[in-house]
Amino acid sequence: MRQGLLLASIVWVAGTAGCGSSQDTAQKPYPTDVASASFQQQQVGDRATMRGDVDFVTMSTEGRLVVYADDQTQADAAIRAALERVADIAKKLNRYDPASELSAINAAAGNQAVDVSDTTGRAIEAARQMWRDSRGAFNPLVGRLVALWKQASESGVEPTSESIDEARSLLDMADLECERSGTGYRVRLQRTGMQLDLGGLAKGWAAQEAIAAARRQKGLRSILVMLGGDGTVWSEPGWARPWTVAVQDPRDSANRAILTKIELTDGSVVTSGNYYRYFEIGGRRLSHIIDPRTGRPTESMLVSATVIHPDGAAADALATACMVLGRDDSLALLGRTKGAEGLLLTASGDDLGRYETDGLAGYEIRR
Ligand code: ADP
Ligand code: MG
Repeated sequence: MRQGLLLASIVWVAGTAGCGSSQDTAQKPYPTDVASASFQQQQVGDRATMRGDVDFVTMSTEGRLVVYADDQTQADAAIRAALERVADIAKKLNRYDPASELSAINAAAGNQAVDVSDTTGRAIEAARQMWRDSRGAFNPLVGRLVALWKQASESGVEPTSESIDEARSLLDMADLECERSGTGYRVRLQRTGMQLDLGGLAKGWAAQEAIAAARRQKGLRSILVMLGGDGTVWSEPGWARPWTVAVQDPRDSANRAILTKIELTDGSVVTSGNYYRYFEIGGRRLSHIIDPRTGRPTESMLVSATVIHPDGAAADALATACMVLGRDDSLALLGRTKGAEGLLLTASGDDLGRYETDGLAGYEIRR
């Protein structure tokens, strides 16, 4: 797969700069690959806070974490807890790492059940739920098809219809067993060749879990976790400064041009787009999102789908599902999903088509 630029398809617009000095944290190293970290005192409403900012890299993606806590020790503890959680999830769910739990499940397809952590089991359960809610547009068993198209983009030759049909026959979620077992889960792929791929919700789920871990620390007031195009935030009730997450203009992704901004105090806003990650075969750009109905890269005409939802994993999976479903079916899916709002973009030449759910305006900052 061609991995265009590994940049966020949403850019964050952090809270306005405040007073106070920026300091480096030359203490214990952070548990993941951190590019920069700084702390700054800021007044938010009538509260004196310490803001911590960290840029890092995970899941082949740029990440950013911003926390507001009562003091620097607490801000640092929240950052560490969040980064540890993200690093742990990235490790367990990485299907390209043969040592990951996901790889252990995939390697045993058609054979034995595999005992995995609570973390991996719950991610699979979330994926199953989103498969149900999206009526199959989101399907975490696309792994085999993703591999097929990846291989095709490397060789420059499209997969044969026989190989696509064979991979499509491995998409039945009834063939995925996932049950609680001890403190974790027991997972089995019943048929040889089945491949689980949680890439469609891993970032949203990791962001959500990171926030839950940070909230278990003392003194956290507000937090933003950006993982590529996924922005998930939480703020304590009454927090005076909503987060602003910018949706990128797909016509000018190279410059990270901003199309519009979404304001949130708690919840997730995720953009799935075809402009950063895609397959390329014979000069043709193909979506990295697979339509489970055809076994082929989706041709839905959407250039991006932005979804707001209280739950990070749901927002992420819904955005992926929308890219499969196209405009009308996506608006229907979002319409019947409680708490979901969305902005769908189509492009022809330089003309951008904008379609949105009724409630989107309540989150959008119109310029
Ligand atoms: P990203 O933001 O990383 O590009 P998305 O959330 O848009 O990710 O999901 C794309 C990834 O999801 C693909 O790279 C693949 O691993 C997986 N995927 C592709 N098609 C589907 C699908 N129909 N259902 C679930 N997951 C999918
Ligand atoms: Mg997604």
